[in-house]
Amino acid sequence: LFIVLEGIDGTGKSTQTQSLGEWFRQQGREVICSREPTDGPWGREIRATAATGRLAPEEELDLFLKDRRQHVEELISPALAAGKVVILDRYYFSTMAYQGCRGFDPTEIRRQNEAFAPSPDLLFVLDLDVDSALARIGGRGDVANEFEKRDSLARCREIFLSLEGEPFVHIIPSDTDPDTVQSRIREIAATRLT
Ligand code: C5P
Repeated sequence: LFIVLEGIDGTGKSTQTQSLGEWFRQQGREVICSREPTDGPWGREIRATAATGRLAPEEELDLFLKDRRQHVEELISPALAAGKVVILDRYYFSTMAYQGCRGFDPTEIRRQNEAFAPSPDLLFVLDLDVDSALARIGGRGDVANEFEKRDSLARCREIFLSLEGEPFVHIIPSDTDPDTVQSRIREIAATRLT
């Protein structure tokens, strides 16, 4: 079972990912929780450049693809083949959204990724309005340019929401407390327990 959590910054993806992993373990399933960018060499490079100044769009997209190829080959595919539950905090839908904001066509990014990256069984898009999201991440201190950040997060949110209607996609309102968000996610995940 392959589950992905997506959403703009501040929607609570990492907390929800860990909590969902705990729940599957309680159900007796073997679980791997992971994230992108990964903690591997390409992922670390991406995270480092976020702090020192962003790369050119092409270079950045290339690093995300390298990071994902390695993630798929070394972790995601083997775990799925072994019957484990894999839960990801961000995947190629984030690349559609964030690199889509940097001039790439989200549909083309998706096509490029689906050529090598397996599609999830369930995709939860944690959804929050941009003002609330910015208020939540305000304390992280990495908001270099508030206005630029607002516009690009709004565009990212639009791209995530454009996935609505696909059978495996669930939009989860995340303006409530984390337990309520997790209950909604578990309710849907429970339908996939065999
Ligand atoms: O998920 P996390 O908060 O660790 O993501 C770190 C940052 O990387 C996010 O703030 C987002 O702006 C950026 N990002 C990106 N392109 C992606 C995924 C994340 O620019 N494909």
